[in-house]
Amino acid sequence: MKSAVVENHKNVIKDIKEPELSNRKGAIVQVYGCGLCGSDIVKLRTGKAKDGTVLGHEIVGKIVEINSDTDFKVNDDIVSSHHIPCFNCEYCKNEHYSMCEHFKTTNIFPGGFSEYIFLSEEHLKNVAYKIPENMTYEEISFYEPLGCIVRAVKRADLNKNSTVLVIGLGSIGYLSGQAFNAIYGCKTFGCDLIEERINLACNAGIDAFNSSDFEKSEQFIKEKTNNMGVDAVFMTSGSDKAIELALKTVRNGGKIIVFASTPNNKGYGNNEIYYRELTVFGSYSPAPVDLKTSFELLQTGKIKVKDISTVYSLDDVQQAFDDTVSNKIFKAYIKIKE
Ligand SMILES: [Zn+2]
Ligand SMILES: [Zn+2]
Repeated sequence: MKSAVVENHKNVIKDIKEPELSNRKGAIVQVYGCGLCGSDIVKLRTGKAKDGTVLGHEIVGKIVEINSDTDFKVNDDIVSSHHIPCFNCEYCKNEHYSMCEHFKTTNIFPGGFSEYIFLSEEHLKNVAYKIPENMTYEEISFYEPLGCIVRAVKRADLNKNSTVLVIGLGSIGYLSGQAFNAIYGCKTFGCDLIEERINLACNAGIDAFNSSDFEKSEQFIKEKTNNMGVDAVFMTSGSDKAIELALKTVRNGGKIIVFASTPNNKGYGNNEIYYRELTVFGSYSPAPVDLKTSFELLQTGKIKVKDISTVYSLDDVQQAFDDTVSNKIFKAYIKIKE
Protein backbone atom coordinates (compact mmCIF):
# COMPACT_ATOMS: atom_id res chain seq x y z
CA MET A 1 0.00 0.00 0.00
CA LYS A 2 0.99 3.61 -0.45
CA SER A 3 2.34 5.47 2.58
CA ALA A 4 4.25 8.65 3.33
CA VAL A 5 7.40 7.45 5.05
CA VAL A 6 9.81 9.75 6.89
CA GLU A 7 13.27 9.81 5.34
CA ASN A 8 15.88 12.38 6.25
CA HIS A 9 13.36 14.97 7.54
CA LYS A 10 11.08 14.58 4.51
CA ASN A 11 7.97 12.56 3.66
CA VAL A 12 8.67 10.13 0.85
CA ILE A 13 5.88 8.17 -0.83
CA LYS A 14 6.63 4.46 -0.66
CA ASP A 15 4.98 1.13 -1.15
CA ILE A 16 4.94 -0.63 2.23
CA LYS A 17 3.31 -3.75 3.64
CA GLU A 18 -0.38 -3.43 4.55
CA PRO A 19 -1.24 -3.96 8.22
CA GLU A 20 -2.98 -7.28 8.90
CA LEU A 21 -5.56 -8.11 11.53
CA SER A 22 -4.30 -11.71 11.94
CA ASN A 23 -5.85 -12.94 15.19
CA ARG A 24 -5.77 -9.61 16.94
CA LYS A 25 -8.79 -7.77 18.31
CA GLY A 26 -9.30 -4.52 16.45
CA ALA A 27 -9.94 -3.31 12.93
CA ILE A 28 -8.27 -2.57 9.65
CA VAL A 29 -9.33 0.87 8.48
CA GLN A 30 -9.07 2.21 4.97
CA VAL A 31 -8.07 5.83 5.47
CA TYR A 32 -10.24 8.44 3.70
CA GLY A 33 -8.03 11.23 4.88
CA CYS A 34 -5.90 12.61 7.67
CA GLY A 35 -5.39 16.13 8.98
CA LEU A 36 -1.88 17.52 9.27
CA CYS A 37 -1.07 18.47 12.87
CA GLY A 38 1.52 21.00 14.04
CA SER A 39 3.10 18.21 16.08
CA ASP A 40 3.74 16.22 12.88
CA ILE A 41 5.78 19.16 11.63
CA VAL A 42 7.73 19.41 14.90
CA LYS A 43 8.42 15.64 14.88
CA LEU A 44 9.68 15.79 11.29
CA ARG A 45 11.83 18.85 11.83
CA THR A 46 13.43 17.80 15.11
CA GLY A 47 14.06 14.21 14.05
CA LYS A 48 11.77 12.90 16.79
CA ALA A 49 10.14 11.04 13.92
CA LYS A 50 12.89 8.58 12.97
CA ASP A 51 13.38 7.39 9.40
CA GLY A 52 10.73 4.81 8.55
CA THR A 53 8.00 6.52 10.63
CA VAL A 54 4.62 7.23 9.05
CA LEU A 55 3.20 10.46 10.49
CA GLY A 56 -0.45 11.58 10.73
CA HIS A 57 -2.98 10.86 13.48
CA GLU A 58 -6.08 12.96 12.71
CA ILE A 59 -7.63 10.10 10.81
CA VAL A 60 -10.98 9.47 9.16
CA GLY A 61 -11.71 6.19 7.45
CA LYS A 62 -13.81 3.11 6.81
CA ILE A 63 -13.63 -0.22 8.62
CA VAL A 64 -12.79 -2.91 6.08
CA GLU A 65 -12.07 -5.80 8.45
CA ILE A 66 -12.96 -6.21 12.11
CA ASN A 67 -12.67 -8.55 15.07
CA SER A 68 -14.13 -6.69 18.02
CA ASP A 69 -16.57 -6.86 20.93
CA THR A 70 -17.94 -3.43 20.00
CA ASP A 71 -20.89 -2.29 17.87
CA PHE A 72 -18.59 -1.29 15.02
CA LYS A 73 -18.87 -3.31 11.84
CA VAL A 74 -17.42 -3.55 8.34
CA ASN A 75 -18.22 -0.47 6.18
CA ASP A 76 -18.68 1.85 9.17
CA ASP A 77 -17.20 5.28 8.54
CA ILE A 78 -15.29 6.26 11.64
CA VAL A 79 -13.05 8.86 13.21
CA SER A 80 -10.48 8.03 15.87
CA SER A 81 -7.60 9.48 17.84
CA HIS A 82 -4.36 7.65 18.52
CA HIS A 83 -3.51 7.40 22.26
CA ILE A 84 -5.43 5.75 25.11
CA PRO A 85 -4.66 6.07 28.85
CA CYS A 86 -4.61 3.04 31.18
CA PHE A 87 -7.00 4.76 33.67
CA ASN A 88 -5.10 3.02 36.46
CA CYS A 89 -1.69 4.56 37.07
CA GLU A 90 -0.85 7.53 39.32
CA TYR A 91 -0.96 9.89 36.33
CA CYS A 92 -4.37 8.67 35.29
CA LYS A 93 -5.69 8.83 38.85
CA ASN A 94 -4.64 12.49 38.90
CA GLU A 95 -6.21 13.08 35.48
CA HIS A 96 -2.86 13.66 33.79
CA TYR A 97 -3.84 11.09 31.20
CA SER A 98 -1.43 12.26 28.54
CA MET A 99 1.51 11.60 30.90
CA CYS A 100 0.48 7.95 31.31
CA GLU A 101 3.06 5.45 29.97
CA HIS A 102 0.34 3.41 28.31
CA PHE A 103 -1.02 6.55 26.66
CA LYS A 104 2.40 7.28 25.18
CA THR A 105 2.93 3.80 23.82
CA THR A 106 -0.50 3.21 22.26
CA ASN A 107 -0.83 4.38 18.67
CA ILE A 108 -2.40 3.71 15.31
CA PHE A 109 -0.26 1.64 12.99
CA PRO A 110 1.62 2.56 10.84
CA GLY A 111 0.32 6.17 10.80
CA GLY A 112 -2.42 8.22 9.20
CA PHE A 113 -0.65 9.22 5.98
CA SER A 114 -1.24 5.74 4.69
CA GLU A 115 -3.90 3.87 2.72
CA TYR A 116 -4.66 1.45 5.57
CA ILE A 117 -4.11 1.41 9.33
CA PHE A 118 -4.63 -0.99 12.21
CA LEU A 119 -6.81 0.28 15.06
CA SER A 120 -6.70 -1.76 18.26
CA GLU A 121 -9.71 -2.89 20.26
CA GLU A 122 -8.78 -0.27 22.86
CA HIS A 123 -9.07 2.45 20.24
CA LEU A 124 -12.47 1.17 19.15
CA LYS A 125 -13.70 1.03 22.74
CA ASN A 126 -12.41 4.39 23.95
CA VAL A 127 -11.71 6.92 21.23
CA ALA A 128 -13.47 5.91 17.98
CA TYR A 129 -16.83 7.26 16.79
CA LYS A 130 -19.05 6.75 13.79
CA ILE A 131 -19.05 9.80 11.53
CA PRO A 132 -22.27 11.83 11.84
CA GLU A 133 -24.23 11.94 8.60
CA ASN A 134 -24.32 15.73 8.49
CA MET A 135 -20.52 16.05 8.40
CA THR A 136 -17.87 15.74 5.71
CA TYR A 137 -14.65 13.80 6.26
CA GLU A 138 -12.65 17.03 6.32
CA GLU A 139 -14.92 18.53 8.97
CA ILE A 140 -14.85 15.51 11.29
CA SER A 141 -11.05 15.29 10.94
CA PHE A 142 -10.95 18.13 13.50
CA TYR A 143 -12.09 15.65 16.16
CA GLU A 144 -8.59 14.93 17.54
CA PRO A 145 -7.09 18.45 17.35
CA LEU A 146 -10.25 19.91 18.88
CA GLY A 147 -9.99 17.26 21.62
CA CYS A 148 -6.55 18.63 22.55
CA ILE A 149 -8.03 22.12 22.71
CA VAL A 150 -11.06 21.03 24.74
CA ARG A 151 -8.74 19.59 27.36
CA ALA A 152 -6.77 22.86 27.60
CA VAL A 153 -9.94 24.93 27.73
CA LYS A 154 -11.43 22.76 30.48
CA ARG A 155 -8.20 22.92 32.48
CA ALA A 156 -8.39 26.73 32.39
CA ASP A 157 -11.43 26.41 34.67
CA LEU A 158 -13.13 29.73 33.77
CA ASN A 159 -16.73 30.91 33.87
CA LYS A 160 -19.08 32.89 31.65
CA ASN A 161 -17.90 36.26 32.97
CA SER A 162 -14.26 35.47 32.26
CA THR A 163 -12.22 37.16 29.56
CA VAL A 164 -9.69 35.32 27.39
CA LEU A 165 -7.12 36.38 24.83
CA VAL A 166 -6.04 33.81 22.25
CA ILE A 167 -2.61 34.69 20.85
CA GLY A 168 -2.26 33.39 17.29
CA LEU A 169 -5.29 32.70 15.11
CA GLY A 170 -4.10 29.78 13.01
CA SER A 171 -6.37 26.74 13.05
CA ILE A 172 -5.60 26.05 16.75
CA GLY A 173 -6.38 29.63 17.76
CA TYR A 174 -9.48 29.69 15.61
CA LEU A 175 -10.81 26.52 17.24
CA SER A 176 -9.78 27.42 20.78
CA GLY A 177 -11.40 30.86 20.63
CA GLN A 178 -14.63 29.15 19.60
CA ALA A 179 -14.19 26.48 22.28
CA PHE A 180 -13.93 29.09 25.07
CA ASN A 181 -17.17 30.57 23.78
CA ALA A 182 -18.91 27.22 23.43
CA ILE A 183 -17.77 25.72 26.76
CA TYR A 184 -18.01 28.77 29.06
CA GLY A 185 -19.72 31.47 27.00
CA CYS A 186 -16.96 33.83 28.08
CA LYS A 187 -15.74 36.95 26.27
CA THR A 188 -12.99 35.89 23.89
CA PHE A 189 -10.43 38.09 22.15
CA GLY A 190 -7.91 36.95 19.60
CA CYS A 191 -4.91 38.42 17.84
CA ASP A 192 -2.69 37.65 14.90
CA LEU A 193 -0.58 39.44 12.31
CA ILE A 194 -2.37 38.00 9.26
CA GLU A 195 -5.44 40.01 8.24
CA GLU A 196 -7.24 37.03 6.65
CA ARG A 197 -7.03 35.09 9.93
CA ILE A 198 -8.30 38.05 11.93
CA ASN A 199 -11.36 38.32 9.67
CA LEU A 200 -12.04 34.60 9.85
CA ALA A 201 -11.90 34.69 13.66
CA CYS A 202 -14.25 37.69 13.78
CA ASN A 203 -16.76 35.71 11.73
CA ALA A 204 -16.60 32.91 14.30
CA GLY A 205 -17.48 35.16 17.25
CA ILE A 206 -13.96 36.02 18.40
CA ASP A 207 -13.22 39.72 18.99
CA ALA A 208 -10.03 39.69 16.93
CA PHE A 209 -7.44 42.38 16.26
CA ASN A 210 -4.05 42.87 14.63
CA SER A 211 -1.25 42.65 17.21
CA SER A 212 1.56 44.11 15.09
CA ASP A 213 1.59 47.20 17.33
CA PHE A 214 2.35 46.09 20.87
CA GLU A 215 1.22 49.19 22.70
CA LYS A 216 -2.04 49.35 20.78
CA SER A 217 -2.73 45.71 21.57
CA GLU A 218 -2.15 46.22 25.26
CA GLN A 219 -4.30 49.35 25.12
CA PHE A 220 -7.11 47.49 23.33
CA ILE A 221 -7.23 44.74 25.95
CA LYS A 222 -7.05 47.20 28.85
CA GLU A 223 -9.92 49.24 27.43
CA LYS A 224 -12.08 46.16 27.01
CA THR A 225 -11.37 44.83 30.52
CA ASN A 226 -11.75 47.88 32.80
CA ASN A 227 -7.99 48.31 32.79
CA MET A 228 -7.53 44.89 34.39
CA GLY A 229 -6.25 42.67 31.60
CA VAL A 230 -7.78 39.32 30.66
CA ASP A 231 -8.39 36.46 33.09
CA ALA A 232 -6.59 34.00 30.83
CA VAL A 233 -4.29 34.00 27.81
CA PHE A 234 -4.19 31.01 25.48
CA MET A 235 -0.81 30.62 23.77
CA THR A 236 -0.80 29.05 20.32
CA SER A 237 2.62 30.59 19.73
CA GLY A 238 5.81 30.28 21.76
CA SER A 239 7.64 33.22 20.21
CA ASP A 240 9.32 35.78 22.47
CA LYS A 241 6.89 38.42 21.21
CA ALA A 242 3.88 36.27 22.02
CA ILE A 243 5.19 35.61 25.54
CA GLU A 244 5.81 39.31 26.06
CA LEU A 245 2.30 40.14 24.87
CA ALA A 246 0.80 37.51 27.18
CA LEU A 247 2.55 39.02 30.19
CA LYS A 248 1.36 42.50 29.19
CA THR A 249 -2.27 41.53 28.70
CA VAL A 250 -2.97 38.99 31.45
CA ARG A 251 -4.38 40.46 34.65
CA ASN A 252 -2.62 40.06 38.00
CA GLY A 253 -3.65 36.68 39.35
CA GLY A 254 -4.54 35.50 35.83
CA LYS A 255 -3.74 32.30 33.96
CA ILE A 256 -1.53 31.58 30.96
CA ILE A 257 -2.26 28.38 29.08
CA VAL A 258 0.81 27.10 27.24
CA PHE A 259 -0.19 25.26 24.07
CA ALA A 260 2.90 25.65 21.89
CA SER A 261 6.58 24.87 22.15
CA THR A 262 9.10 27.65 22.19
CA PRO A 263 12.30 27.46 20.14
CA ASN A 264 14.73 28.30 22.97
CA ASN A 265 12.82 26.60 25.79
CA LYS A 266 12.77 29.88 27.75
CA GLY A 267 9.61 31.65 28.78
CA TYR A 268 7.81 33.34 31.62
CA GLY A 269 9.84 35.22 34.19
CA ASN A 270 9.99 33.78 37.70
CA ASN A 271 9.41 37.17 39.29
CA GLU A 272 6.35 38.00 37.22
CA ILE A 273 4.82 34.68 38.18
CA TYR A 274 5.66 35.31 41.82
CA TYR A 275 4.79 38.97 42.35
CA ARG A 276 1.74 38.92 40.08
CA GLU A 277 0.47 35.54 41.31
CA LEU A 278 0.19 34.20 37.78
CA THR A 279 -0.71 30.62 37.01
CA VAL A 280 1.18 29.29 33.99
CA PHE A 281 0.27 25.77 32.92
CA GLY A 282 0.55 23.46 29.95
CA SER A 283 -1.95 21.16 28.34
CA TYR A 284 -0.94 18.61 25.76
CA SER A 285 -3.04 15.71 24.55
CA PRO A 286 -6.70 14.78 25.17
CA ALA A 287 -8.27 12.09 27.36
CA PRO A 288 -11.24 10.09 26.02
CA VAL A 289 -13.61 12.38 27.94
CA ASP A 290 -12.23 15.46 26.13
CA LEU A 291 -12.54 13.70 22.79
CA LYS A 292 -16.17 12.94 23.59
CA THR A 293 -16.79 16.65 24.19
CA SER A 294 -14.96 17.47 20.97
CA PHE A 295 -17.12 15.02 19.01
CA GLU A 296 -20.29 16.55 20.47
CA LEU A 297 -19.17 20.13 19.76
CA LEU A 298 -18.51 19.22 16.13
CA GLN A 299 -21.64 17.17 15.69
CA THR A 300 -23.88 19.93 17.05
CA GLY A 301 -22.15 22.58 14.93
CA LYS A 302 -21.11 24.60 17.99
CA ILE A 303 -17.60 24.82 16.56
CA LYS A 304 -17.29 25.99 12.96
CA VAL A 305 -14.88 23.97 10.84
CA LYS A 306 -16.47 24.36 7.43
CA ASP A 307 -14.25 25.28 4.48
CA ILE A 308 -11.09 25.91 6.47
CA SER A 309 -9.03 22.94 5.23
CA THR A 310 -6.89 22.88 2.12
CA VAL A 311 -7.00 19.44 0.52
CA TYR A 312 -3.83 17.70 -0.72
CA SER A 313 -3.36 14.27 -2.23
CA LEU A 314 -1.11 11.75 -0.46
CA ASP A 315 1.48 12.29 -3.22
CA ASP A 316 1.61 15.98 -2.25
CA VAL A 317 1.93 15.46 1.51
CA GLN A 318 5.38 17.08 1.67
CA GLN A 319 3.94 20.13 -0.11
CA ALA A 320 1.23 20.27 2.57
CA PHE A 321 3.95 20.32 5.26
CA ASP A 322 5.85 23.10 3.46
CA ASP A 323 2.72 25.22 2.88
CA THR A 324 1.72 24.87 6.54
CA VAL A 325 5.16 25.93 7.75
CA SER A 326 5.15 28.99 5.48
CA ASN A 327 1.60 29.95 6.64
CA LYS A 328 0.43 29.73 3.04
CA ILE A 329 -2.56 27.71 4.19
CA PHE A 330 -4.67 27.50 7.35
CA LYS A 331 -5.01 23.74 7.82
CA ALA A 332 -4.03 20.83 5.58
CA TYR A 333 -6.13 17.72 5.04
CA ILE A 334 -4.51 14.87 3.17
CA LYS A 335 -7.14 13.13 1.08
CA ILE A 336 -6.21 9.51 0.56
CA LYS A 337 -9.44 8.05 -0.81
CA GLU A 338 -12.73 9.56 -2.11
ZN1 LIG B 1 -2.69 16.43 16.58
ZN1 LIG C 1 -2.29 5.55 33.15
